[in-house]
Amino acid sequence: MPIDIRQFPCLADNYGYLIRDRETGAVAAIDTPDPAAINAVLEREGWALTHILNTHWHPDHAGGNQALKERWGCRIIGPKGEAAKIPEIDEEADEGDLIRLGASTAVVRATPGHTLGHIVYHFAEDGAAFVGDTIFALGCGRLFEGTPAQMHASLAKIAAMPPETKLYCAHEYTEANARFAVTVDPGNEALARRYDGIKKLRAAGEPTVPSTVGDELATNPFLRAKDVSVQQALGMAGVDPVAVFAEIRKRKDGFR
Ligand code: ZN
Ligand code: FE
Repeated sequence: MPIDIRQFPCLADNYGYLIRDRETGAVAAIDTPDPAAINAVLEREGWALTHILNTHWHPDHAGGNQALKERWGCRIIGPKGEAAKIPEIDEEADEGDLIRLGASTAVVRATPGHTLGHIVYHFAEDGAAFVGDTIFALGCGRLFEGTPAQMHASLAKIAAMPPETKLYCAHEYTEANARFAVTVDPGNEALARRYDGIKKLRAAGEPTVPSTVGDELATNPFLRAKDVSVQQALGMAGVDPVAVFAEIRKRKDGFR
């Protein structure tokens, strides 16, 4: 069933999302970075919050749960693997679970790496995935809890979604990610073109999110660890893609 999506910047560089099932009027916040910003959008739209869908436990994702539940009495769904760290959680979700928002359905994918319990919500009928801090436009989340092998497998689940799927990530990190991406994928013309477009959008104060699975497959170095030209740029031709991914992640962690 169709959902309406509202995207708004909040905190330093987060995106908040509110989604509304058109048939029933059920409304979910994807994560709770900033309750005041979320409430302002709800008021502007005349929407009543019925659900919270958390991706992981970090405070810029679940820190507003309590304030919003107090105000709205909404039902909170979050990752089973870190339920103890999700304030006010009502329902635990894990790989393959179906989450209903009114007449709309999301399938849950477990994407450990950034945190061990991280999940994403794929509204397949709507071609939309809310991916938290697993994949970013031209980047991926830092490995605070998981291993490179776990994150590599998690990103593969997102890469396997239909290419037109829109990826709604939780941060506007794209321009810095692009600056790094060109250092490990210097021959990629699609990436160079995308970088130009990103600079223009950011100079105009416009978001670069959402992107699509197809955009990321073509240009996100963290999805391209098996690409020969990326491997050659790293001096790792023929090396196992998980090791190549780990090297790209390590270089990004040290990149300024
Ligand atoms: Zn996080
Ligand atoms: Fe975050």
